[in-house]
Amino acid sequence: MWPVRHGRVVRATPPAAALQDVLKRARLRVLRWRQREGAERFRERRRREDESPRLASIVPKLRSLRFEIEELRAGGSIETSHVRPIVVSRAPALFFFPCHDSTCKEGGHDITAEICNALRAGAERFEGEDRCSGQTTNADCGRILKYVATATYEPE
Ligand SMILES: [Zn+2]
Repeated sequence: MWPVRHGRVVRATPPAAALQDVLKRARLRVLRWRQREGAERFRERRRREDESPRLASIVPKLRSLRFEIEELRAGGSIETSHVRPIVVSRAPALFFFPCHDSTCKEGGHDITAEICNALRAGAERFEGEDRCSGQTTNADCGRILKYVATATYEPE
């Protein structure tokens, strides 16, 4: 009979690999949680869009609308900038722009009220900005969304 040496067990995986495995599974859990959360937020936005009145019913004269959007980091550097045309015939009267900081929670820019007011007043070019009120991992998000809106209307 072979002597049994206490405290020695044959390991199927060396400790380093086992740790890697644990970390990998933890990362996957976080990823899945994030995906679920993202899907939830997407559904919530869909629901709000569906429940909103149509833009065409609120501003019947509106013919076209587009936004030039710039998103600035709290420090002031430009993060993203893009042009967003709106399909006036079927767009909801809801102007919510999500925050693009991937760590931001509960953030985004809801500028529905000010946009609808400007459109109802027949404004052809107007601009404004909104500060994100979400939270990143360790601070207020504070990203700034700047927009320039251009609109055209049916002639009187
Ligand atoms: Zn944010």
